Amino acid sequence: QQTLVRVENLKKYFPIKGGVLKRTIGHVKAVDGVTFDIKQGETLGIVGESGSGKSTLGRAILRLLEPTDGKILFNDQDITHLRNKKLRPIRRDMQIVFQDPFASLNTKMSVEQLIEEPLIIQTDMNKKERKELVNTLLEKVGLRASDRMKYPHEFSGGQRQRISIARALAINPKFVIADEAVSALDVSIQAQVLNLMDDLQDEFGLTYLFISHDLSVVKHVSDRVGVMYLGRLVEVAPKKPIYENPLHPYTQALLSAIPDTNVDVEREKIKLEGDLPSPSNPPSGCAFRTRCPMAHERCAEVRPELQHKGDGHYVACHLYDEE
Ligand code: SF4
Ligand code: MG
Repeated sequence: QQTLVRVENLKKYFPIKGGVLKRTIGHVKAVDGVTFDIKQGETLGIVGESGSGKSTLGRAILRLLEPTDGKILFNDQDITHLRNKKLRPIRRDMQIVFQDPFASLNTKMSVEQLIEEPLIIQTDMNKKERKELVNTLLEKVGLRASDRMKYPHEFSGGQRQRISIARALAINPKFVIADEAVSALDVSIQAQVLNLMDDLQDEFGLTYLFISHDLSVVKHVSDRVGVMYLGRLVEVAPKKPIYENPLHPYTQALLSAIPDTNVDVEREKIKLEGDLPSPSNPPSGCAFRTRCPMAHERCAEVRPELQHKGDGHYVACHLYDEE
């Protein structure tokens, strides 16, 4: 399987301005050295609490935010600093579906206008071709062709998310980032939209980066899962091992908080205590140490790097250091 997206030591820092002179007095390290790749046709799930940097990561990959450091490769092409004309064809290949349909769908536009817009901007299709494609797309996402003259407020949340998906797929992208795409929906509707995304993935050969704070949602769709904490990946593994045998104390804590996982019942429940520390002033060494029941001296001194524990299972934690 070929790699479609590769991210190497990606960083996105936001300056913090302060004082009367509004000088930079520090940085929020929203994404702080993230490395992974996504294979063609694969779904990589990214989970983490709000403030973990997962949305910033998605936006940086799409080049909606300028990366501070590191590299983004798309189809083996380095797109980290591509601009304007050179970035345009890449933009066609990468789309994003956001959480709140009202935020991402202009309510003054009809469904047809919404789905047509990217076609007008990005393609040379004529009116008739666009109309036909809109009808086909509506059908693909489980809506009726007659829905095209309606407005977003006339639909339920789940239907609006289907419209968002149709719009994202209109220009035939290769890579789709779903950023909390089903988080605003009821659980039963979530499953329908996730199943739809899964079907569309097979039909169109799509590759997904699926970002969510919700581990059960990510479990439903992902082939592999990455867990983020304060701007860093702390664990990456294929779905089965990460849900059945999580190695990182943070992943263990997240999983023990949800009821429907097969995590070994013998495993001590780890409770997450305290808040996420500020990403402008993260703890030294392991950023998780202020909340980790297993923290020891080395954790304050040395920042743990991802290490491979076999079968594609990576973890960044000193409990797994070999000495
Ligand atoms: Fe806990 Fe230390 Fe592992 Fe960090 S490195 S997760 S503090 S044991
Ligand atoms: Mg799939």
